[in-house]
Amino acid sequence: MKPVPANSLSAGFYSEQAELEEAALRVMRSGWYILGEETAGFEREFAAWLGAPAAVGVANGTDALMLALKVVGVNAGDGVFTVSHTAVATVAAIEMLGAVPLLVDVDNQTLTMCPHSLLRAIHTAHRLGIPLKAVVPVHLYGHPCDIGALIALAREFDLRVVEDCSQSHGAEFQGRKTGTFADISAFSLYPTKNLGAFGDAGVIATADLEVAERLKMLRQYGWRERNNSEIPGVNSRLDELQAALLRVRLKSLDSRTRRRQEIAQEYQRAFGGILQTPVVLSGCSHVFHQYVVRSDDRDQLQQRLRQAGVATMIHYPKAVHQQTAYAGRLPLVDSLATTESQVARILSLPMFPEMSDEMVQQVCRAVLDRCTAAL
Ligand SMILES: *Cc1c(COP(=O)(O)O)cnc(C)c1O
Repeated sequence: MKPVPANSLSAGFYSEQAELEEAALRVMRSGWYILGEETAGFEREFAAWLGAPAAVGVANGTDALMLALKVVGVNAGDGVFTVSHTAVATVAAIEMLGAVPLLVDVDNQTLTMCPHSLLRAIHTAHRLGIPLKAVVPVHLYGHPCDIGALIALAREFDLRVVEDCSQSHGAEFQGRKTGTFADISAFSLYPTKNLGAFGDAGVIATADLEVAERLKMLRQYGWRERNNSEIPGVNSRLDELQAALLRVRLKSLDSRTRRRQEIAQEYQRAFGGILQTPVVLSGCSHVFHQYVVRSDDRDQLQQRLRQAGVATMIHYPKAVHQQTAYAGRLPLVDSLATTESQVARILSLPMFPEMSDEMVQQVCRAVLDRCTAAL
């Protein structure tokens, strides 16, 4: 039997090769490569798909978070709450502004920001005298965080909210897409994401058209017009080639999401009874950026699956506060007990829309065999 990879980016390309190649050639032949019709078109189409009034393309997801935080007023020294169980980029973006990441624990069911932990952390940070500015909840793995409760808390304590939607393109909370709840939201369009470019890319969504205009200035040296910087900005442009390819990818995003959900259903049916599988809370939809199971024998399970030709990954093997760059350096504002206990139990099974039914069945059989043998 052929091995099953954890993901396959080339399968994504070949599934719409003709249209993607046509789009790439169109840009190369046009002679216009940065901030043109393709970027404007992608921003328009992405905003319409999301149900947001405006979207602004930027160079990558980390910049999207950084610029979103900057535009809501985060400055050097400000405290910004986020989770430790996330891609390190979430925390890196906060530090790019000289702001102070304040790490909050996750809820054991969804592994996303726990509102109770946030409340405790707010009180602790107040006692420590840290000026508080914003919260960055992450819709991890494709499941919405408890965004309603988090926004209510943020409002109570006058904190701005930036949703990190890098893993949740299209996921819904109470019938509305993630990325439309907070003041502003950031999406990575890195190749592995549910909506992925063929290189680095990111996009910011906002309901405030003035904020969108400001972001368009910030992403290019503070220019409204060429060669006249009105505010200090950066270079974080989305290029035309990526934008044109993303326009193609956006059209098939919803059907690719449905295929992910179908695979997840199949997994749940096959081994939901013997492994801890992902929850989908009522009122939420899960877009399965990752399909993360949990096991006390995680390493053994991973090894046995590898022997059966099934590749898996761990997202992420260490929480942010456990990594060398951050360990012991950030202010402690709450216990990270759930984060620390679950990081050793998580395992991401193969999940990509181009998986054949045969591959899905191969994963199901391997998990069933190896699990029943292990337990
Ligand atoms: C991928 C990712 C990012 C960063 O995106 P880049 O495009 O790689 O900069 C930020 N947050 C989360 C949760 C991510 O998964």
